[in-house]
Amino acid sequence: MTEPTVRVRFAPAPTGMLHVGGARTALFNYLFARRAGGTFLLRSEDTDASRSSLTAESSIAADLHWLGISWDEGPDIGGAWGPYRQSERQEHYGLAAARLMERELAYPCFCSPEELDAERVASEAKGVAPKYSGKCRGLTMAQRRALETQGRRPALRFIMPPRDIYVEDLVRGAVHFPGGLIGDFVVVKSDGVPAYNFAAVVDDSAMEISHVIRGDEHLPNTPRQVALYEALDMPLPLFAHVSMILAPDHHKLSKRHGATAVSEYRDRGFLAEALINYLALLGWSPGNDREFFRLEELVDAFSLERISKGPAIFDHAKLLWFNGQYLRAKPVAERAALFAAWARRDDRLASLAELSDDEWLVTLAAAISDHVGVLADVAKETATVLAEPSQIDGETKAALAHPASRKAVAELGAVARRCGTDRRAFAAATARAALADIGVRTGAKGRALYRPMRLAVTRQEHGIELPVLLPLLGPQRVAARISAALDVSAPGQEAQASG
Ligand code: GLU
Repeated sequence: MTEPTVRVRFAPAPTGMLHVGGARTALFNYLFARRAGGTFLLRSEDTDASRSSLTAESSIAADLHWLGISWDEGPDIGGAWGPYRQSERQEHYGLAAARLMERELAYPCFCSPEELDAERVASEAKGVAPKYSGKCRGLTMAQRRALETQGRRPALRFIMPPRDIYVEDLVRGAVHFPGGLIGDFVVVKSDGVPAYNFAAVVDDSAMEISHVIRGDEHLPNTPRQVALYEALDMPLPLFAHVSMILAPDHHKLSKRHGATAVSEYRDRGFLAEALINYLALLGWSPGNDREFFRLEELVDAFSLERISKGPAIFDHAKLLWFNGQYLRAKPVAERAALFAAWARRDDRLASLAELSDDEWLVTLAAAISDHVGVLADVAKETATVLAEPSQIDGETKAALAHPASRKAVAELGAVARRCGTDRRAFAAATARAALADIGVRTGAKGRALYRPMRLAVTRQEHGIELPVLLPLLGPQRVAARISAALDVSAPGQEAQASG
């Protein structure tokens, strides 16, 4: 038997940002299609005209592109099964609705929102699950006509068969939906707009979708959709419902837990490859303890069988860890270029000349990478490296009071002054061996050499190693800081100040 051609879709409503949950659904569909050599398409479920926009549609597309997820058919690129916006597919819904009417599997419903609300309230009061009473099913032709002449515009309701429905879900296994719980439901609203369940079935069928892979919040819709496929004599796709992403408190992941939109992650300096890797492991596992997967590697490793039934917990710390790993795995020149771009976004650093010096940027990247979890940290870390030191304190004065140390620091200052603005020359003059030479010439050894240098330049006891720090600060800063430190701590200063 030949495997059916794989055609899958991601079908977001373009009403807002792409969220991490949606991105994961898109990713699983994409991986499944690519693995099978099938087709992945994007469909814009924009039937709610008041909430949908082309802006949202393009921002979702841009976020998917950023993640590296591409599609073969979609509203932006077309395709043989188009159009790919539900707002442009009215004809398909009209034909399917007519078919249901013809077969007497749907009927016009004139109930007003108020009447429906009253029904709902009454069921709740009785403690039973709300279900449409079927009131309009029994209307005669004459009654329908009379209501229409009163100007009432009916919705179209599908007659939900009362039998049990079984779905063999590719993730959850056999799912049983007992009959009789679901009332007749609206397929076309009174304004002519198709309801989600109806439009999804008509489109999935017309677009020959083979597998519906989506979040399990849609599981309750599945029996309705199955009944519609059968009523319309359309072959059923296979279903795979992926469990929700929960926050660490086991509630549905939402804004109050932090960022949920893919664009927020991008804007905070997460790398697409880290987010993809992390999202893939949210609910899917490779079956071994491998953790690192690039998108292409995921394509090879992915299978629906390895999607877990249980909910996945969004672990921000783990995502951050992945991001750090991916950042540090980048070749240093590439990382340096990224750091420069992110530093430039910060007002404090935008005009920093060093940001166009490739060698300086590479030194910076080596110095701060361990402290950068997301690229948004770059500006703060860079500013910290360059920050003006605090006032000269007792520690620094005491360290500079030692004659050999003072000489060594003064020599470093002289070296810096001689270099003028030549960062490259200063880098050579402050290499490990060159600093050791200063020690030899001045008689300052070990701690008596490096500690006073560091204190004079930063006032800190610890930090980035001097052969990295000094070239980062550059000759001008170092010269100025040293001369200030030497001035303030000049022998006799104390006596003069108090005398
Ligand atoms: N527009 C629906 C959503 O965004 C699609 C659900 C489905 O995949 O059937 O949730």
